[in-house]
Amino acid sequence: MRYLSTRGASPALAFDEVLLTGLARDGGLFLPESWPQLDLAALAGLDYPALAARVMLPFLGGRIGEADFTRLVEESYAGFSHKAVTPLKQIDSRTWLMELFHGPTLAFKDVALQLLGRLYDHVLAKRGQRITIVGATSGDTGSAAIEACRDRPAIDIFILHPEGRTSEVQRRQMTTVMSPNVRNIAIRGSFDDCQDLVKGLFADPSFRDEMHLGAVNSINWGRIMAQIVYYVAAGLALGAPRRRIAFAVPTGNFGNVYAGYAARAMGLPVEKFIVGSNSNDILTRFIQSGVMKMGAVHPTLSPSMDIQVSSNAERVLFDLCDRDPARLVRAMQQFRQSGEITLDPAQHKQLSDLFAGHRLDDEQTLAAMKGLYKETGELIDPHSAIGLAAARAVKLDPDIAIVALGTAHPAKFPDAVEKATGIRPPLPPALADLYERPERFTVLANDSAALKAHIRGQVAAGRAA
Ligand SMILES: *Cc1c(COP(=O)(O)O)cnc(C)c1O
Repeated sequence: MRYLSTRGASPALAFDEVLLTGLARDGGLFLPESWPQLDLAALAGLDYPALAARVMLPFLGGRIGEADFTRLVEESYAGFSHKAVTPLKQIDSRTWLMELFHGPTLAFKDVALQLLGRLYDHVLAKRGQRITIVGATSGDTGSAAIEACRDRPAIDIFILHPEGRTSEVQRRQMTTVMSPNVRNIAIRGSFDDCQDLVKGLFADPSFRDEMHLGAVNSINWGRIMAQIVYYVAAGLALGAPRRRIAFAVPTGNFGNVYAGYAARAMGLPVEKFIVGSNSNDILTRFIQSGVMKMGAVHPTLSPSMDIQVSSNAERVLFDLCDRDPARLVRAMQQFRQSGEITLDPAQHKQLSDLFAGHRLDDEQTLAAMKGLYKETGELIDPHSAIGLAAARAVKLDPDIAIVALGTAHPAKFPDAVEKATGIRPPLPPALADLYERPERFTVLANDSAALKAHIRGQVAAGRAA
């Protein structure tokens, strides 16, 4: 199994190389050269870790041994607070919520990142290498990455957040981790400033090489791979391939729903992917109109979806261009120059046959949360509410079972839940004392030289210790 870049100008790489590289050198995203096919009958009845190991093994191309991989997968999901890892909860006669938020930081990103941190560490240790992961976060990714990388010998992780501008739960989930290889940096600036600082580090080749910089962003193939598993798990649990199934996914960077698309390419029958967006609706507009057009980013109640460029959409676009890198590159150039891509009618039909889009503004999101609470007594977070409301808004044949993906625990967004329902959801037991835990972080100016000096100093001190 080797991996190709969507832009066609990077050599094909093996799994471990793709894992450590992230973005291809030609600016493209990696994809497996062919899709391994699932034997659904043989997978039915396996528990989540066993299913996960079986589904993912073909993607490794022998670069990690089966026994090692199985152990890493088991360790990754042992810390989840629900034995089923991604349990399904029935909401009405044909809709289920798949709860992806039973990991350590209460958002679906744990499902992939818990494994990714361990895979990085394993691959690096074998190569005798270390890596310095640097990222900027406005919310869920930072804490999930920290939990995934803490105490892993081959990894140092630095996460930047804008000082005073993240929610208290989100900040504390990062800053209360006392592992010596974890450093939180509060930047005196905005989230965009943090992101620009990180981009600046990656754009400096000598610093990048000196520090062995790495990223864990959502374009990483390893994250997509790990997310394929829960689509298969839900399909099997509800009776696929005999029963028809659709998924509804609240979407930002298109990483989560792309993993479902990959599961379908591997042979899981899926009737439809319903994409839910907040007012940052570049993707739902794309599906409805065939035109991908960038807009300004609006802050919403579902901040993890406040994104206007959905990087993973490039992987679907590649298929819409018949996997022809030259066509894809032309489309991406057009997007960069004019901020717009227009599909031809055949491409648009192909896209809208499989995907449907639905957008909710904040008021509609609150109404969806309140409506579900009144109907069932369930509290859900604003992101999950968007997926669920989209599932109900799109008309499908009544025999199709719809799985809406629950991407965050309601306690992660207590203000929005309280606003919608009048009830403030308590943190689950493992995090109940979050507000009493000591915090540790360094405040730095919005200054690239100061940041580099800090990272150099901390990494050197860590290695000497
Ligand atoms: C990251 C995130 C999303 C968006 O997922 P994508 O893979 O970027 O589409 C949705 N909900 C929550 C809670 C998230 O943390």
